[in-house]
Amino acid sequence: MLLLRSRDSRLTPAFAPVPRSLYLEPHMIHEVFPVGLLQCNCSILGDERSGEAIVVDPGDDIPRILAILQRHNLRVTQILITHAHIDHIAGAARLKALTGAPILYNSRDLDLVKIMDMQASWLGLARAPDVPPPDDTLDEGRIITLATAPDSTKPPIAAHVLHTPGHTQGSVCLYLPDHSLLLAGDTLFAGSVGRTDLPGGDTNTLLRSIHHKLLPLPDATVVIPGHGPSTTIGDERATNPFLI
Ligand SMILES: [Zn+2]
Repeated sequence: MLLLRSRDSRLTPAFAPVPRSLYLEPHMIHEVFPVGLLQCNCSILGDERSGEAIVVDPGDDIPRILAILQRHNLRVTQILITHAHIDHIAGAARLKALTGAPILYNSRDLDLVKIMDMQASWLGLARAPDVPPPDDTLDEGRIITLATAPDSTKPPIAAHVLHTPGHTQGSVCLYLPDHSLLLAGDTLFAGSVGRTDLPGGDTNTLLRSIHHKLLPLPDATVVIPGHGPSTTIGDERATNPFLI
């Protein structure tokens, strides 16, 4: 969900923009753009050598996602969800229906899928989106790769799954070490951390996840949170009021 913890623990929204398009290395296309009512940061990671792409957190605005894929001549092969909150997962079934790509998320978030009606009511929506169970689960240590061109000597684009419970029980971050990039879902934000007052949330668990899984990453790692502006691990380790 959108709401973050502010320094005084009240909940404040974050609407600041993220970089529109990042080309982190010659073969990787990375587009980041906010989707839906709560402006969830959706990412498209593509390999221009093979034309394969991963879409992360297609919460809404599926026509826009398809247009960006088409602009880069990319074909979605996997739909990854950082956690099963409605603003991150609501468009996944539609994107799967249109592209045939499987949906992957951590199965510990199935309890949240079962209360999608309640999640819709949080947003004032009359109808809950259709959210299927995952075609495959995103568990700790799993590595999601994109096919590369057959004649390429470079390694494939690889996203390592870090299980970071706390915001939800099944929250995951996606770490791309070769690209110094972390897609953090709603676990870590610029100057804030994920809220823990929704079903399945737990503050101690969240802080443990961040301290044990995220802060050990290199300082220069660029963090794309689930909402709001990008940051780096070094900046958050030094200045995030919830972590120092
Ligand atoms: Zn959330």
